[in-house]
Amino acid sequence: MTRRAEIAAGLAAVEERIAAACDAAGRRRDEVRLIVVTKTYPASDVALLADLGVGDVGENRHPEAGEKAAAVAEPLRWHFLGGLQTNKAGAVARYADVVHSVDRPKLVASLSRGALAAGREVGCLVQVDFGDAGGRSGAAPGDVLALADMVAGAEGLRLDGLMTVAPLHAEPAPVFESLVRLSSTVRHEHPGAGAVSAGMSGDFEAAVAAGATHLRIGRSILGERPSLR
Ligand SMILES: *Cc1c(COP(=O)(O)O)cnc(C)c1O
Repeated sequence: MTRRAEIAAGLAAVEERIAAACDAAGRRRDEVRLIVVTKTYPASDVALLADLGVGDVGENRHPEAGEKAAAVAEPLRWHFLGGLQTNKAGAVARYADVVHSVDRPKLVASLSRGALAAGREVGCLVQVDFGDAGGRSGAAPGDVLALADMVAGAEGLRLDGLMTVAPLHAEPAPVFESLVRLSSTVRHEHPGAGAVSAGMSGDFEAAVAAGATHLRIGRSILGERPSLR
């Protein structure tokens, strides 16, 4: 099988599962956007995805993400999903269309400066940490509204919504439901911030059921990653 056929088959299988999850939840398929997470896979895979009709790709590391964004000519929306150091925020603001990992005031300030310098508008999701003992990145739920206000008021940035990564060893559904509840609170103040980014290869059906609008799926489409990163 060619790599293109492999990826097409992976996409079709995941599309079928997303459609089934939407059906089960009484949601329309177009309420949910698929972001194909291409971290660790080559730029040639990203080009194949674009050719197969994918519009959104996700990366979690700089400079790998920027190198691929520069290498792939097809128009795509680039989502930055990873922990981000403030000193790299300016570079990421040059190519990322949406940053899902905004979790502290200093990062808001750096992204804002970077977006202004690049003459771009960067969409931002506030990443929420619902208390995984492993200490993942993300803002505490109680800090989310203030951080959302800060993003909404920052030049060059657009508040799109919220994001979370479910804890590794717990049921994902209650976490996704908490994110959706917090999202309604944020939307009360910021009606345009309706994005709820939740769900990966292992748990995206639960995310669809809870009301996620953006799924971030890598392995189920592209195959197991050669190296863990
Ligand atoms: C890698 C990653 C994903 C995708 O994970 P898969 O298990 O490959 O589907 C989603 N979200 C984030 C933040 C990631 O880092």
